[in-house]
Amino acid sequence: YQPKYDLRDGKVVGLEALLRWHKSEGEIIKPADFIPVAEGSRLIIQIGQWVLQNVCRQIRSWRDNGFPAVPIAVNLSAYQLGEQNIVDIVVKAINDAGLAPKDIELEITETFLIEDPVIIAALHELHKYGVRLSIDDFGTGYSSFKYLKNYPIYALKIDKSFIDNIGNKSDAAITEAIVSMGHTMNLKTIAEGVETTAQVEFLRSIKCDIAQGYYLSEPLSGDKITKSAFHPFKF
Ligand code: C2E
Ligand code: CA
Ligand code: CA
Repeated sequence: YQPKYDLRDGKVVGLEALLRWHKSEGEIIKPADFIPVAEGSRLIIQIGQWVLQNVCRQIRSWRDNGFPAVPIAVNLSAYQLGEQNIVDIVVKAINDAGLAPKDIELEITETFLIEDPVIIAALHELHKYGVRLSIDDFGTGYSSFKYLKNYPIYALKIDKSFIDNIGNKSDAAITEAIVSMGHTMNLKTIAEGVETTAQVEFLRSIKCDIAQGYYLSEPLSGDKITKSAFHPFKF
């Protein structure tokens, strides 16, 4: 789980669940090495359901222990969104843990936001139900302005590749343009992969809303998350 910080006051406004596969003693496999394989074999449907259930249970236990009630983001594969019963799966995971829809945010990679009517219908239903939807890796896919208009989106996550090169004039301009467009469209903007003070300073200067990255906090395993993980970051 990696915290997200408000760039104005440093408050933790949410966490993102990032999957790890503890394959054997001490061996941890990163999602980049197994999610694409799981997507190819449809195993992603079961893994995705397992992630949703376990994240909801984890939130329940944090709430029972008096942790702040910030939404937790789950990454969703487009293959999951294409399943007819994705809305039922999300609703069930939330209900079974005694949570509310606003406790969950779903991050969907932009590359896959194709104009599939099944996916569009699912997004609208999830939004109506009350979960927040964010576009992940924004700027790397088609960046179609049409879906910004037509999809019920809460936030844009500016891809790490732009943040990495923010010292570069064009990447800085692209980042600034995404933030400005996001605000005009009433969307929150989130910078991912923030690693330096200079990046934080630039993002604050262009009024990007939220930041996430090793500079602020690395992802922590669920059992290592204590109340201190919710402490504000002092800029
Ligand atoms: P993502 O959603 O774009 O997540 C951001 C990735 O950047 C994470 O890698 C995170 O650990 C890493 N990161 C965060 N801050 C920094 C930083 O400051 N510097 C650098 N170099 N990296 C940083 P991770 O955890 O390996 O996840 C990779 C991708 O796997 C994710 O990209 C996401 O698309 C996917 N993924 C992760 N968990 C799930 C899941 O439960 N389901 C699905 N379908 N995909 C997942
Ligand atoms: Ca993500
Ligand atoms: Ca990314």
